[in-house]
Amino acid sequence: MRLESIRKQFGDTPVLNNVNLDIREGELVTLLGPSGCGKSTLLRCIAGLTDLDGGHIFLDSKDIVNLPPRSREIGMVFQSYALFPNLSVSENIEYGMKMRGASKEARRKRSAELLELIDLGEKRDAYPQQLSGGQQQRVALARSLAVKPKVLLLDEPLSALDAKIRKNLRSEIREIQKKFNITTIFVTHDQEEALTLSDRVCLMNKGSIVQQGTPEELYTTPRTEFVAQFMGSYN
Ligand code: ADP
Ligand code: MG
Repeated sequence: MRLESIRKQFGDTPVLNNVNLDIREGELVTLLGPSGCGKSTLLRCIAGLTDLDGGHIFLDSKDIVNLPPRSREIGMVFQSYALFPNLSVSENIEYGMKMRGASKEARRKRSAELLELIDLGEKRDAYPQQLSGGQQQRVALARSLAVKPKVLLLDEPLSALDAKIRKNLRSEIREIQKKFNITTIFVTHDQEEALTLSDRVCLMNKGSIVQQGTPEELYTTPRTEFVAQFMGSYN
């Protein structure tokens, strides 16, 4: 996927200033940056939940900017559990497939596979409020993968969870991401999370990507004082 000159402002306030980013197929890129720097806005623009003011988003060399969210083949998981409270776990996972007209049989098969993958097979008939936060996020992940998106967007999916659960789920997400070889953008404001999880880190500040590289590169060769401070505060 390629982002080209993405621009967005709310009122007179610029929030994204010409963001450019190339992501290889199967790569996990972390968008790291302080609160308010535009990470969520960028993901929402990619998913089609927010309109851009300018720029292009190429997926398989096709510009998807004018496609509605459902036609973009992009899955998204949010910070807070956005499961449908009145649907069971399996119904949540199957929801997107149902909307796209998949048969009941196909839906059941897919949700059973995904439930096994996230190790929640025995919870298929439970309701979201009967699950822990970590379990709900695993279901949210399964739900977003059910329709086989080409790109997965994860907006601070771990930040509402306890430290221990967060670490476990972090490695689970990485395993699943690798298993599906799915192109992923992972948003976080947590340096440690970014350093341990990603193939590449993009550090954002005030609506721009200020430096990108491997976690080691950003840590050992920061190009600006901001990068040094932000990466150095890791520990
Ligand atoms: P991050 O996810 O990096 O914390 P956001 O993308 O949520 O940052 O927000 C970036 C900036 O845009 C912030 O200053 C925020 O207040 C502003 N913003 C986000 N959404 C809206 C909106 N719907 N209307 C007005 N301002 C917004
Ligand atoms: Mg955010």
